[in-house]
Amino acid sequence: MLKPDDVVAMAVSGGKDSLSLLHIMVKIEKNFPEARMCAVTVDEGIRGYRDEAMKLAVKNCQKLGVEHKVVSFKEMYGYRLDELVDIIQKKEEKDLTPCSYCGVLRRRALNSVAREIEADNLATAHNLDDETQTILLNIIHGDALRIARVKPVLSASHPKLVQRIKPFCEVPEREIALYAHLKKIRFQGIPCPYAQTALRNDIRSMLNTMEQKHTGAKFTILRSIERIRPALEAMGEEEKLRNCRLCGETTIGEVCKPCQMLQRLGVL
Ligand SMILES: [Zn+2]
Repeated sequence: MLKPDDVVAMAVSGGKDSLSLLHIMVKIEKNFPEARMCAVTVDEGIRGYRDEAMKLAVKNCQKLGVEHKVVSFKEMYGYRLDELVDIIQKKEEKDLTPCSYCGVLRRRALNSVAREIEADNLATAHNLDDETQTILLNIIHGDALRIARVKPVLSASHPKLVQRIKPFCEVPEREIALYAHLKKIRFQGIPCPYAQTALRNDIRSMLNTMEQKHTGAKFTILRSIERIRPALEAMGEEEKLRNCRLCGETTIGEVCKPCQMLQRLGVL
């Protein structure tokens, strides 16, 4: 995933996964004097949740001596997530949840910061559980071809996009929790107040039951997708990327997803 002189931007939310990965990456980076690391935290603007996680992210970065950049929805889009959720709720848009907005806007924010610091990679702390859940979610949603995008290294398909890497994608969540515990890493324990991903939660418990009864089930799912990914990629049409008419960022259509979402809420 990494070269000795890479500049790595790392998404640090303040949860156990991202803080554990930060600790490990810093340890590895010490052996590579030409490499550079920068932690990036997105302040979505979630009262009573983000503030605590932000403090923990800042503290851990200071302790480890890592450069840390913070970017907020407010400065990037003009609105906090709390404000956007108010608008979503007034509109009674059943098909779009706070999570779907937040996910799209957060990915854009992370990519922008990573590009700004000329990072070669944007590392996120997705673990084996996240990855297998996403695979099954895509199947249940009927987005079969999207499974091909669940991969350890998602290379940049456009100069404005930064390559995404997931160093923890083969590590079970339980092992990361154990690491955080043994290393006495203080992390944000409470879930986001907007988390309402009922389907993902059902899939999580199903996979955990499977894993308990049939050890290695999660790995087998990941390996199976790895084997059929080349066929899936060959089936998918190559996406032609161009510049968004409104913001200039990359998009498949005429207007990018973040702009579409903000337009839909009437804030752009
Ligand atoms: Zn746009």
